[in-house]
Amino acid sequence: MKFAEIQGERFEAQPGSSGYCPVCGDSVIAKCGEHKAWHWAHRGVRNCDPWWEPETEWHRNWKNCFPAHWQEIIRKSEGGEKHIADVMTERGVVLEFQHSALRREERDAREAYYKNMVWVVDGIRRIRDRPHFFKSLGPGKIVAANPMTVGLSAKGSALVRDWGSSSVPVFFDFGDVAQPEDAMHFAKPILWALKPQSPPELAIFTPITKTSFCAFFAEGRPYETFDISAALQRLGLAPASPPPPPPPSNRDALREHFARALNARARRRF
Ligand SMILES: [Zn+2]
Repeated sequence: MKFAEIQGERFEAQPGSSGYCPVCGDSVIAKCGEHKAWHWAHRGVRNCDPWWEPETEWHRNWKNCFPAHWQEIIRKSEGGEKHIADVMTERGVVLEFQHSALRREERDAREAYYKNMVWVVDGIRRIRDRPHFFKSLGPGKIVAANPMTVGLSAKGSALVRDWGSSSVPVFFDFGDVAQPEDAMHFAKPILWALKPQSPPELAIFTPITKTSFCAFFAEGRPYETFDISAALQRLGLAPASPPPPPPPSNRDALREHFARALNARARRRF
């Protein structure tokens, strides 16, 4: 954990200090080594929140894109079950940064618990995920040019198989360093946004800039996407087919926004 409570206030770990876990109230001690980001740990081996995963530098960097008072927010269900949300925005949207593998049942449980949430998934934890994803990209996979939207089969990507059925928006983070063999290159660090409940045979993605992801959740500014219409025309290529219609449910405002961002502009153009 980044924050523990001391006399009712949240503090970051400092060498030699101790505090209290905001979930269970047990005492926690500061771990301030050279290799891992300074954090708080329970005195026992177990963490009281079974959903908590060991925090990496990747987690910490993502959390720090948002104000400190949005980070590590305790959410309590009606039944009294408590969990720590990585980030919760002022509008009540939970952002979960997922590095470790997650079983389908646990993912479903978290989506049901938080409801209004999105995932940011570390796409470079497994060595093959990034090359498989980028290998499957290419002009033939483009289903709309503005904003750029691709349709990928789950067959070639374990990551798409793992997350394609998620009921909330998922954003894949493949790191900021482009590789020479990448089928597509971008001028800015990006996330690949997976449309919720894409059909299993065609997961729908659009690239958005990381800075616009943060600005969207912090300030409500729209995602910065990419218009590749002109580039495709120069190559004599047209998008393969329009993306499928958005899911029928529009109860979730976030999901609705996401579907609009992916589809509305594309429908106008094609
Ligand atoms: Zn605890």
